[in-house]
Amino acid sequence: MGRYQERKWSGEKGKKFGHAGRTEDPYQPAEGQEASLCTSCRALYQNKRWFFDEKMAARLAGTDQVREVICPTCRKIRDRYPEGVLTLSGEFFNERREEILGLIEKEAAKVANRSVADRIIQILPEGDKVVVETTTEKLAQHLGRTIYRAYKGDLDFRWSEMNRFVRVYWRR
Ligand SMILES: [Zn+2]
Repeated sequence: MGRYQERKWSGEKGKKFGHAGRTEDPYQPAEGQEASLCTSCRALYQNKRWFFDEKMAARLAGTDQVREVICPTCRKIRDRYPEGVLTLSGEFFNERREEILGLIEKEAAKVANRSVADRIIQILPEGDKVVVETTTEKLAQHLGRTIYRAYKGDLDFRWSEMNRFVRVYWRR
């Protein structure tokens, strides 16, 4: 528990990554540039939204038409800052661990393809459980539902009252 309490933040936008007091958009491309490009995942930022467009990224990368940045999702991954945690456990789970984790990874890759924000930070074995940390609440819930749909079992969501954070438990 303590581990997560230390990571609490006020929920005010901009504080999370040390941009307190800054009002301008740190990803906004400079004058004359088409977009910002994340040098880590190659996501593009334009008109205040993140998206993937490999053709556009290839055309812009390394030119002065683009501002090179690290996107918020890659920062969360680098800082290990999950907004969702899915815990998988149970006898059935342990018998089919590889298969179930394979489904998690496959589904996460599918989601990550169309959404810049939703990614797995890491998958950690913790004794007879496995913990999946995600960059968004949405992804942890989505992965929990995916496993539930495929294998039934027990699915439980616990939201944090103060913060943007959810714990999802699946057990079978
Ligand atoms: Zn990125």
